[in-house]
Amino acid sequence: MTPHLKQDFGQLQSLLNDITNQAAGYLGSLPGRSVFAIPEIADLPEPAEEGLGTAKTLELFNTRFEPLMVASSGPRYLGFVTGGTTPASIAGDWLATVYDQNTQVSRGEGDISAVIEEEAISLLLDLFELPAEFFGGFVTGATMSNFTCLGVARQWYGKQQEKDYAKDGITDRVNVLSATPHSSSVKSLAMLGLGSRNIIRVNTADGNREAMDTEDLERRIRALNGAPFILISSAGTVNTVDFDNFKAIARLRENHNFWWHIDAAFGGFAACSPQHKHLLEDWEKADSITIDCHKWLNVPYDSAFFLVREEHKRLQVETFQNSDAPYLGDPSENFNYLNFLPENSRRLRALPVWFTLMAYGKKGYRHIVENSVKMSGLLEEFIVQSPKFELLAPVRLNTVCFTLSGTENQETVSRFLSALNRTGKVFMTPTVYRDRKGIRAAFVNWMTDENDIRIITEYMDRIAGEILQ
Ligand SMILES: *Cc1c(COP(=O)(O)O)cnc(C)c1O
Repeated sequence: MTPHLKQDFGQLQSLLNDITNQAAGYLGSLPGRSVFAIPEIADLPEPAEEGLGTAKTLELFNTRFEPLMVASSGPRYLGFVTGGTTPASIAGDWLATVYDQNTQVSRGEGDISAVIEEEAISLLLDLFELPAEFFGGFVTGATMSNFTCLGVARQWYGKQQEKDYAKDGITDRVNVLSATPHSSSVKSLAMLGLGSRNIIRVNTADGNREAMDTEDLERRIRALNGAPFILISSAGTVNTVDFDNFKAIARLRENHNFWWHIDAAFGGFAACSPQHKHLLEDWEKADSITIDCHKWLNVPYDSAFFLVREEHKRLQVETFQNSDAPYLGDPSENFNYLNFLPENSRRLRALPVWFTLMAYGKKGYRHIVENSVKMSGLLEEFIVQSPKFELLAPVRLNTVCFTLSGTENQETVSRFLSALNRTGKVFMTPTVYRDRKGIRAAFVNWMTDENDIRIITEYMDRIAGEILQ
């Protein structure tokens, strides 16, 4: 053991106390901390051959990087769809690191971490009021969840032609239909060898919608002449949080042969609110569902899960089977997560989720979701009454998509957004919607309150005033 390792291990208590104090200070200061940083970083000093030890390394981190860490888990970071971190999720995340289990085997030899994973999945099914007909597991994010689900869909498609794509490779052009897929589904098609250019685009519905026009979907299905296909549908598009009509899709499914995937990365959380869960009516009939945890569940990054119907378990194993040992018996025997996921070794991602769900319950999440929706409604109200701004789309749930008023001001949108973000008080991200430059503000952080909206709208008003004059 080197001297630094020995010394660090001997002082573990005091090192961890220092980290805890720093962490509590940081998390407590989130509401006031800047959400924007310009990366001006001092040069890395010549690394010491024998290392610095943890205390000195912490000092180095604190001088070089800490001041530039942005409050992305704070209440006014509205960029992308960026969740915060509940106290319980941080507890679970720290312990996942401390216990450092390698989550694989559920029953039989080994540790019990996969049991925690299965418990967390069943808590999630309960949160979303989904039936226990789904099998689930954790991956790094919704991108990998889409990849996993579409990987199983690919195997299903092969089976429709009596082929085994996992073993023999893809030998057909695979029909994939979608209207407004998230970029990560398109990326998954590229990674899966299905081809990102091979999506058959379904028209969006009339009236400023991103959801698919189900009549057009039906026409395109008929054009396939009975050939199978994969449908990628959306529960919450990123620009305007639009939902495909799952009831209509479920009806089409009665007469047509397709794999139905739903990307519900954050829109799935509508299920937590009695007022909004109608948006998801019939979603439980899908073959696979993607949901992110590091967005609206407010757990630290590196967390999402997939759900695939139990009846497709064999296809899932065929897709992700790790060893040559034939594992095609009863999937409940000798269960091993590494035969169901892209990754082999993984951290215990279920633990932060398990902690936060046990700590705050369904009521807690109902409150978080309804609060986010309320906050987006307050921003919407401000925009509607302000002559400086206009909405680009109706606010359907938790995201406000807007721009500066008047087409003549389009060139100044980027300037406005850059100036707004540089205040460090609020962070939003740019978009283009229906050929107009726009701005998105997504609300998924458990901390955001009315006072934040007051601060945000004051800065928006002031900066737009300066830029538009
Ligand atoms: C965020 C998001 C993704 C990608 O999620 P990551 O967690 O960044 O991998 C996929 N689909 C939708 C609808 C999203 O909002």
